[in-house]
Amino acid sequence: MKTLKTLLKIVPLLACAYAGSAQALTINFTYDPAMDARALAGFQAAANLWQNRLTDNVQVNLNIGFSELAAGVLGSTGSTQGTISYAGYRQALIADAKSGTDMRAIANLPKGPCLSVLMNGTNANPAGTGSAATFVDNDCDANNSTIRLTWANARALGLVPDSDKRSDGNISFSSAFAWDFNPNDGVTAGTFDFIGVAAHEIGHALGFISGVDVLDLNRSGNFSDALFTYISPTDVFRCSPESKAAGADIDWAADNRTKYFSLDNCTTTLSVFSEGRTYGDGQQASHWKDNRGIGLLDPTAARGELLAISKMDLMMFDAIGWDVPEPASIALFSLGAAALAGSRRRKLAKAA
Ligand SMILES: [Zn+2]
Repeated sequence: MKTLKTLLKIVPLLACAYAGSAQALTINFTYDPAMDARALAGFQAAANLWQNRLTDNVQVNLNIGFSELAAGVLGSTGSTQGTISYAGYRQALIADAKSGTDMRAIANLPKGPCLSVLMNGTNANPAGTGSAATFVDNDCDANNSTIRLTWANARALGLVPDSDKRSDGNISFSSAFAWDFNPNDGVTAGTFDFIGVAAHEIGHALGFISGVDVLDLNRSGNFSDALFTYISPTDVFRCSPESKAAGADIDWAADNRTKYFSLDNCTTTLSVFSEGRTYGDGQQASHWKDNRGIGLLDPTAARGELLAISKMDLMMFDAIGWDVPEPASIALFSLGAAALAGSRRRKLAKAA
């Protein structure tokens, strides 16, 4: 039987653990005791960037490493993932909704059991097996009704019990590269921002992934559309002018048309995504579009570049199921809106 190539990687647990703060999100590292102390401190600083911004009371477990990898390889990462029905994912988002971003997202999510998907490739393509031409897949089989999310994202949504201590993923960097472990005084020319790159990789484990990368790897194969059960939480908000015009809920094609982030049925463009390594713009679809300074989840880091979590990054994490407290200054001016959102939430919960 032919199987899809995927990007998933799971590694065995290593020796010891380092626990973070007990408040809100806790990122718990497992690592080789002999790991470079600067790298360990850098990973912890990267974890703090997320722990200081996401308030979900969950523990995320990551294996981290810092050693000599193959020449030219900066690092390798992989996240543990699981699947849930689209309807189940939507219900979890509704139950977890707190912010204005959450309210906007859940108010606009399709209410049925399936997503109508603009995609390409596959042997269901009316233009021929593996064709680049896009088509609307709305037959409501496995790929239309399944969401694949990272284990950490599922934890944020309360879908995984606290007793589940499995690893959420692994991140390792090559010690053969020149790293700057202290970005507070700027990132030294010729080196990479270790804390920023670590925070970027943690961001993938927390849920910033796109299944379009799986289609991008397999688009030309003779595969049924139903095999592509890889629609991710960020993909639920992935749009294009063409998907909107075709009446599809999302754009999940592997090609080089523009795909944008939208929380209101593709009406408002909030940001733009990368499109895929093979058939897109050369960058993995699991990122923002490159070179626009959108956020930490941009696909590339340059030497000497300081990387930081942006408001757009946080809006996405908020939308896919993490809790991001709204700034006090905004809360002050939106008491009426908050009350309104509260009543809408109750209405939705009742309808659920
Ligand atoms: Zn990345």
